[in-house]
Amino acid sequence: LVVLKNVNKHFGSLHVLQDIDLTVARGEVVVVIGPSGSGKSTLCRTINRLETIDSGTITIDGKPLPQEGKELARLRADVGMVFQSFNLFAHKTVLENVTLGQIKVRRKDKQQAEARARELLDRVGVGAQADKYPAQLSGGQQQRVAIARALAMDPKVILFDEPTSALDPEMINEVLEVMQQLARDGMTMIVVTHEMGFARSAADRVVFMADGRIVEQATPDQFFSNPRSERARDFLSKIL
Ligand code: ATP
Ligand code: MG
Repeated sequence: LVVLKNVNKHFGSLHVLQDIDLTVARGEVVVVIGPSGSGKSTLCRTINRLETIDSGTITIDGKPLPQEGKELARLRADVGMVFQSFNLFAHKTVLENVTLGQIKVRRKDKQQAEARARELLDRVGVGAQADKYPAQLSGGQQQRVAIARALAMDPKVILFDEPTSALDPEMINEVLEVMQQLARDGMTMIVVTHEMGFARSAADRVVFMADGRIVEQATPDQFFSNPRSERARDFLSKIL
């Protein structure tokens, strides 16, 4: 579904993505881990074209990433993204946050969009907050709204970039549980996270990045019990 071939990206003299080859199948959950600065966020951002690449190809469902206009807006709907910092529209209600894209990009009428939004808000456990503004919600609630907003576009894949890193500890699990459920429901997901418990239980595959390269890919069992590379062993010894 998502295929990156020989992708390279520089920020000035920094070679932030080096010869990245990555294939994510439909329904697969891929967890990306690695040290700070290894290029994990940049990788996610290139997949929905928040960043351009210098060379290589990225295709979604066999089609190259569009460069601009309506096509690009549709790509961003097909490739949902959930950020560390929620990124909800502050001056819109929770319900409006989840209906806006459906109306503007997916061309649904308001009634249809609201019905779908309420269903999704219920599903992630924030149905009662529909008429509030983001600032009136806890971090965990805001992040669950952000997930509902991504889901509302009927995405082909959702990218999560450290979705729980900005949350207080007691709110991390409520967000991880929603993500676990999505994974069980067969959503295609690419998840950058430091939550190794989530990686172990939800990931089909772990991708370990260091210095802009994919150093190792394995099942969570293989990766955590028997990492092949020195870099991965070193990383795991620091975080586990
Ligand atoms: P973290 O775990 O800290 O989130 P990361 O693996 O997500 O790290 P990236 O955010 O992808 O890493 O950054 C990779 C490298 O690229 C870092 O050295 C970072 O400073 C640099 N970088 C990221 N964005 C830019 C930018 N817009 N301009 C210049 N350099 C950037
Ligand atoms: Mg990052």
